[in-house]
Amino acid sequence: MTGNPFPNYISGTWVCGNNVAANINPSDLDDTIGYYAQASALQTAEAIECAAAAFPKWRAISPLVRFEALDRIGSELLARVDEMGDMLAREEGKTLPEAKAEVHRAGHLFKYFAAEAYRTNGEMYQSLREGVSLKVVREPIGVVGVITPWNFPLAIPAWKIAPALAYGNTVVFKPAELVPASAWMLSDIIARAGLPAGVFNFVMGTGGDVGGAIVAHPDVSGVTFTGSTPVGRKIGAALFARGAKMQLEMGGKNPLVVLDDADLDLAVHCAIQGSYYSTGQRCTASSRLIVTAGIYEKFVERLSASVKKLKVGDARVSTTQIGPVVSKAQLVQDKKYIKEAIADGATLAAGGNDVTSTTPGYYLSPAVFTDVSPKSALVRDEIFGPIAAVLRVSDYDAALESANDCEFGLSAGIVSRDTAKIDHFSQNSEAGMIQINLPTAGMDFHAPFTGRKGSSYGAPEKGSYTREFFTAAKVVHEGRG
Ligand code: NAD
Repeated sequence: MTGNPFPNYISGTWVCGNNVAANINPSDLDDTIGYYAQASALQTAEAIECAAAAFPKWRAISPLVRFEALDRIGSELLARVDEMGDMLAREEGKTLPEAKAEVHRAGHLFKYFAAEAYRTNGEMYQSLREGVSLKVVREPIGVVGVITPWNFPLAIPAWKIAPALAYGNTVVFKPAELVPASAWMLSDIIARAGLPAGVFNFVMGTGGDVGGAIVAHPDVSGVTFTGSTPVGRKIGAALFARGAKMQLEMGGKNPLVVLDDADLDLAVHCAIQGSYYSTGQRCTASSRLIVTAGIYEKFVERLSASVKKLKVGDARVSTTQIGPVVSKAQLVQDKKYIKEAIADGATLAAGGNDVTSTTPGYYLSPAVFTDVSPKSALVRDEIFGPIAAVLRVSDYDAALESANDCEFGLSAGIVSRDTAKIDHFSQNSEAGMIQINLPTAGMDFHAPFTGRKGSSYGAPEKGSYTREFFTAAKVVHEGRG
């Protein structure tokens, strides 16, 4: 190991952890980005206790102070889009344009929530009793645990940390193990934004040690989590058992419905963008392409031809369209699903192979499957890789039924010119977010982000809706003294 490891940040001080972990570039396994501190459960508890001690002062501080700190963080992110985008692409493997767009989004999320600090935080009611006044105030909940996944190393932390601080909570942030560098750079910016010591704390480490300590600690009033459904359900049960608040954003297996009347170019564009960009590693990726019989053959032919042309390679090379898979474990999982799907009788119409690049990395060509069984693991499990299954259905009704036949309900798309069917789909899809003639991935950051069924639990994230999680209502009746 060369150089000092990147430390954790607790109570206004940068501190070493118990251990360190290497951060490796998935586009080039010879490139070690750095070594990052790993906190123990004990150190995490210390961070939580510091956050609890800082809460009374922070909740009472002027909204102007909160605005200024969050706005400053947003400005620095926006000023460093190129540099931070490069690091994000290097450690996570999404392409440079995608990575830079994410930094830009994170900057604007801080600016959005900076302004939220100013917004009125309560309501007046007319009491049913004469001479009594009645108001509802929103109060911060206390210490918020922020637990995030690897696939959006800046945007997801931004849309959790910014509202937590804006509404007057203090924070303990635990990033995903695979992406400490982006999280560290963000934390460094937050550490210099003028927050009192203990308001923001940053602890890197494993889900079991650090995440588990956050979930279990009685001083943590609520946890905002994004990650897989099994982990979300597990921590949700633990939080419920001790009466803590939770906001859980979890997995997806999102359908893109293509009807006979669709513009074929648009349908293929939506499928490619939604299924394969960011290497298919988006919770809103369209991994089920549900296509009606009249357009099916043309769609499969065009999609397969286009997928074969996608340039897979180093995330930071300008010609690359699809970066590497994020890790060896994820690559092994993706290839296992491909192998099992072929063994189950599905047809691999394109891709699904190892790709050699100029550097050793976790490269996989985007895969298109046809002739898949609707009950197969390929169609039912969230794979989280550049793999999509095309399902042939007879008509719109069968397409809607197939789209809803899923344990998840995050995003759902439809490509069609038929306004009646589009309206019907919007109303009857069991997903929380609908995309019409657009890819299933790619949401505006000022609107709520929310799923149903196995995808989400608790208040939506982003936009003003997220206030529901980060604050608690208090009802105040006042009679004449
Ligand atoms: P993951 O569930 O493995 O981990 C998410 C976070 O939880 C990580 O920080 C991890 O260290 C932590 N963790 C793991 N075990 C824990 C435990 N026992 N206690 C506390 N914390 C624990 O998910 P991942 O592999 O990092 O991310 C991919 C998943 O995230 C996919 O399922 C994807 O769909 C989902 N995701 C969902 C959304 C959404 O908004 N719905 C957005 C992005 C990603």
